[in-house]
Amino acid sequence: MMLKCTVCGREAKDAESALDEGWLPYFIEGLEDKGPCCPDCFDALMYEDKDGEPRLKDEFKGRIIYANELRIDQDPEPHFCVVYN
Ligand SMILES: [Zn+2]
Repeated sequence: MMLKCTVCGREAKDAESALDEGWLPYFIEGLEDKGPCCPDCFDALMYEDKDGEPRLKDEFKGRIIYANELRIDQDPEPHFCVVYN
């Protein structure tokens, strides 16, 4: 299994040790589960709620462009735009 941070796109080489290093398999934004997430993004953007769940801080809700969602929006064949030059 490969861990890739959905926030910054950083990849963990080894999923086993990644969790020891503070990677999170998921976190919560509002009512949705997102993730995984690296420890740096957790420190910057999240907190543990009263149930010990990693949760996005209110001020960042709806403001994160997730790396995995960004890929979907990108043109799969961007070189086509230079055809008419
Ligand atoms: Zn990250």
